[in-house]
Amino acid sequence: TLDATAVYTDRHGTVHSLPDAEAEAAVRADDRAHVFHSWSAQALIDPIPVAAGQGSTFWDYQGNEFLDFSSQLVYLNLGHQHPDLVKAIQTQAGRLATIQPSMASDVRGELARRIAEVAPGDLDKVFFTNGGADANENAIRMARAFTGKRKVLAAYRSYHGNTTTAITATGDPRRWTNEPGDGSVQHFFGPYAYRSPFHSSSPVEEAQRALEHLEQTIVLEGASTIAAIILETVVGTNGVLVPPPGYLQGVRDLCDKYGILYIADEVMVGFGRIGEWFAVNRFGVTPDLITFAKGVNSGYVPLGGVVISQKIAAHFDTVAFQGGLTYSGHPLACAAGVATFEVFERDGILERVRDLGERVVAPRMKELADKHPSVGDVRGVGLFWAIELVRNRETKEQLVPFNASGAAAAPMNAVIAECKSRGVYPFTHFNRLQFAPPLIVTEEELHRGLDAYDRALDVADTYV
Ligand code: PLP
Repeated sequence: TLDATAVYTDRHGTVHSLPDAEAEAAVRADDRAHVFHSWSAQALIDPIPVAAGQGSTFWDYQGNEFLDFSSQLVYLNLGHQHPDLVKAIQTQAGRLATIQPSMASDVRGELARRIAEVAPGDLDKVFFTNGGADANENAIRMARAFTGKRKVLAAYRSYHGNTTTAITATGDPRRWTNEPGDGSVQHFFGPYAYRSPFHSSSPVEEAQRALEHLEQTIVLEGASTIAAIILETVVGTNGVLVPPPGYLQGVRDLCDKYGILYIADEVMVGFGRIGEWFAVNRFGVTPDLITFAKGVNSGYVPLGGVVISQKIAAHFDTVAFQGGLTYSGHPLACAAGVATFEVFERDGILERVRDLGERVVAPRMKELADKHPSVGDVRGVGLFWAIELVRNRETKEQLVPFNASGAAAAPMNAVIAECKSRGVYPFTHFNRLQFAPPLIVTEEELHRGLDAYDRALDVADTYV
């Protein structure tokens, strides 16, 4: 759709209307010549030149409008150009743009206090980082220093970030080319009811068998060697795997039984994605360390961190924590974080996510599953869902093979292209069409975007 009202502002503040072929050509030329992109062969990528964003929508320079059902990389929880976040950053830049981490700053302190107030149990200190991977890196380093042990257990089908230890902990193909990494992570199977590695027949049984498997892993790896278990509370990019009843509590119990720390990676699901400040709050468990990033300030300025229990924090009262980053807890990022808390509270964001998730999204997801033979499974909570695509519902043969690329990935690429041609930018991974719109998405936008998903599933159906 060409939105005749669409405009963009250049970096000098001059407003232009869209489409603007000349500006697009200039953006493409610099990008093509000088920007080295992540995750892809440079020759294969064709990035969308983005001219403007507002709320749940962004525009390219041709004036095409995209409803962002991926919240960029599942971080834009308050949408583009939220006035409160923009103002908080502008005000902070005008008064004190930066202050290094070993000095105290009002916004850094206020954000840490706000985070401690919504964290479970006695987790009341915050170590700030620049993003999610370094949050996990430092949480693992704290666990190793605290326990005097080195090994870490992490789940297959997890993503923990792309620094050495975080990518070693990751349980998906993004780890492979970075191996052997830091060499002391052991992977185990987490619960995944639809493709149960334990052949269980109910969520409760899946939780029980996954816990038995985890306990055997602990025993065989040696509890005396294991510093921590790191787990995404709801597995994100690897398929929105919501833990079955009792699983996370069982992990907590095993950690207590064997003297292992429990690190909850909430980089993707923290700060409202499932309608909770921290997703563990929904499941009633208290980890020893929680890592966060993304939604803490919608990524307007890079920020992440580790929330630390009193017991672990106290260990470092007399022993130095050998970790630190030049920009930790950057005031511009923290100002946007404090503003995030204010907006969430004033606008009832958590309540709205729970309401929209249950009242609007869940029934529509069920409808899509009933209607389309290519849908093997739908699952999710709040504004975080996955539609798992298959060629055959009986055999559960995946629409594209695991880790498919090139020609093998063509069916998924066709699904993605259909979404984009209908004005929706989807969140996809392997054989899944996932769903993670900004938390300020309107009901009209939800329906419009899910209508586009419905059409994209017609395309998936042609491969059944
Ligand atoms: N942990 C989880 C669960 C994530 O989803 C991500 C990023 O997607 C990370 C860690 C890494 O965060 P970052 O890319 O900010 O380093």
